[in-house]
Amino acid sequence: MNSIYSFTLQELKKELTKNNIKAFVAEQIFDWIYSKHVDSFDEMKNISKENIEKLKQLFSFENMVVDKLQVDKHDGTVKFLLKLEDGNFIETVIMKFNYGYSVCVTSQIGCNMACKFCASGLIRKKRNITVGEFIKQFIIAKEYVEKNFNDKLTHMVVMGIGEPFDNFENLIQFFEVIKQQKGLCISPRKITVSTCGLVEKIKEFADLKNQVNLAISLHAPNNEIRNKIMPINKVYSLDKVIEAMDYYIKVTKRRVTIEYILIKDVNDSDENAVELAKLLKGKLCYVNLIPYNKVVENNYFRSVRGKQFFDVLKKNNIQATIRLERGSSIDAACGQLRIKKILELRNAKV
Ligand code: SAH
Repeated sequence: MNSIYSFTLQELKKELTKNNIKAFVAEQIFDWIYSKHVDSFDEMKNISKENIEKLKQLFSFENMVVDKLQVDKHDGTVKFLLKLEDGNFIETVIMKFNYGYSVCVTSQIGCNMACKFCASGLIRKKRNITVGEFIKQFIIAKEYVEKNFNDKLTHMVVMGIGEPFDNFENLIQFFEVIKQQKGLCISPRKITVSTCGLVEKIKEFADLKNQVNLAISLHAPNNEIRNKIMPINKVYSLDKVIEAMDYYIKVTKRRVTIEYILIKDVNDSDENAVELAKLLKGKLCYVNLIPYNKVVENNYFRSVRGKQFFDVLKKNNIQATIRLERGSSIDAACGQLRIKKILELRNAKV
């Protein structure tokens, strides 16, 4: 059965008429699921009993429940551990910024990219997140912000566990659904998707011109360092990633975010900053310097050279920001909460 969340309004109208249900019912369904956050057909009071029975035969709802919820008292970051229908766990995080609330969604269960510094990569990819599961993460966060903060969820980043461009089709359909729906209605310009640098997909994404922003996890100014910390660099080397980025900028005219985690004695020297500045000189991009969140399973540590690194970039005319830390008291680093849960379950079985 198809998830009701996997259709755009136009697609659902078509699907309904094919099954002898009037197209306007799609609008009613959308109002219930996206504005009123209802998750069963039985609750849709203005739809006839006969149609409700038909709809139940045709479409399913995502069965996703909140297993654990953590709130960081200092900055209001909210982290959900969500249990999926098949028993898998994912993480979804709400963050408050001066421009509003933003949600960070998960794109895969586990990740195959195996970046050495990242907790998510410790557990291999099991499967992709479906369109319905993407949407449901968004709805859970949206409902939480509206109920608990009396505010709107306006921004989204696809920076949770997984490599979004390794789940390309579902990701793109997710954007299509989310940008059109009355109740959801989030502007593509307020969405950012982050990739470790899958070159063909960056180009394909550019060609879509869907106005969604692109962030690239660079984390190194040269192949030597990048090879050490990001195995994917052996497939798509730095020069190819930069070439794909140039293509994206040329086609979309949108500014790219370069993510750069500062890891002690790995990529944080002044020379590294100068080299990075040379690499990015004159390009429509800015560097987001990210404080490293310690992962207990590896030997990397947070750099204390953030301000110096930032200053060298500035001196070399590269725009940069230092990312504010979020949720440090609630296992904020990618995948940490999920790994805890998996270990908890494993230990419980022993
Ligand atoms: N696979 C995608 C998106 C998920 S990771 C990508 O690589 O971009 C989102 C961001 O968090 C990436 O920039 C990633 O490198 C970074 N990240 C992973 N582990 C981290 C950690 N322990 N501390 C800080 N940032 C981390």
